[in-house]
Amino acid sequence: MTAPVRNAMTVDVEDYFQVQAFAGCIDRAAWHDFTPRVETNVDRILEQFAAAGVSATFFTLGWIAERHKPMVRRIVAAGHELASHGYDHTRADTQEPERFRADVRHTRELLEDIGGVAVRGYRAATFSIGARNPWAFRVLEEEGYAYSSSVNPIRHDLYGMPDAPRAPYRPGDGMLWEIPMTTLRAFGRNWPCSGGGYFRLLPYSAFRQALALVNRRQAAIFYFHPWEIDPHQPRIADCGWKSRFRHYTNLSRMTARLDRLLQDFAWDRMDRVFADETFTSPACGRGAFV
Ligand SMILES: [Zn+2]
Repeated sequence: MTAPVRNAMTVDVEDYFQVQAFAGCIDRAAWHDFTPRVETNVDRILEQFAAAGVSATFFTLGWIAERHKPMVRRIVAAGHELASHGYDHTRADTQEPERFRADVRHTRELLEDIGGVAVRGYRAATFSIGARNPWAFRVLEEEGYAYSSSVNPIRHDLYGMPDAPRAPYRPGDGMLWEIPMTTLRAFGRNWPCSGGGYFRLLPYSAFRQALALVNRRQAAIFYFHPWEIDPHQPRIADCGWKSRFRHYTNLSRMTARLDRLLQDFAWDRMDRVFADETFTSPACGRGAFV
C-alpha cells in the first residue's frame, strides 16, 4: 500500500455579505450594517477539522481579520496556515498595480501582526489573476509572498484562465509559485474540481470520483467558505436568481458532505502539501484523464 496523496484543504475566510455573487447589490460601505456570522462559522469549521485531524490553510480577508482578531489567533493556535485573501475582496484585475501592491502589503502586515506568524500565501478574490494582470505575480513576490493560488484554469462567467497550466508553475522569472485551482482534464477541456459551488451542486459521489482521478497524477486543492456551512444566514433579497441559486443551494448538506470528504481523502495545509515542488509530469495531458 502506498500512502494516499495529500491534498490541500483551504478556507476563504469572508462573511456571507462579502461574496462576489452579491457584489453588485451590496456596497462595501454597507458591510458594517450586517451582523457578522463568520466567527461562529469558523469555530464550527475548526471543530470539524480537529475532529478529523485535518490541518488547513485559511485565506483570510484583512477586513475580517482586524474585526475578529481572537478568531485569527484561534486559527493559528490550532495549527493551521494563515494566508491572505486581500483586504476587502476587491478583484485583483480591477486594481492598478500600485493599489494592488498596497492591498497585498497591508493585508500581509495586518495578518502577521494579529496572527504572530509569517504569511506566505495569497489567493486573489474570485480567482482574479489571469491574462489581464500577469504583473500581479511580480508584485506578490516583491511584497514577500512565496506562493499564489489565484488562477482557476476553467471557463466561468466571473473568472477563469482556461489556457493556464493545471499544475504548480512559476509564472515569471522570479521564485513565486502559482498553485492553480484543481481541474480534471477530460474530453478536451478542463473541468472544475476544487470545491466551491460545484461541490454543493453536484452529487458527492461524482465529486469523489473526479478527485480520485486527479489524485492518480497530482495533489488537489479544495476550497470553501464559512458561510457555506450556515443554512440559517439571513437571505439577501433582490440580487438575481443566478446569484441566489449559487449561494443558497444545498447549504444544509454542506457539513455532512465535508465530513465525508475529510474522511475519504488525506488533507493538509497548502504550505506542506506543496512544500517541495517535485512535479515531473507535464502540466497538461491532452485528451486523457489527468
Ligand atoms: Zn473570496
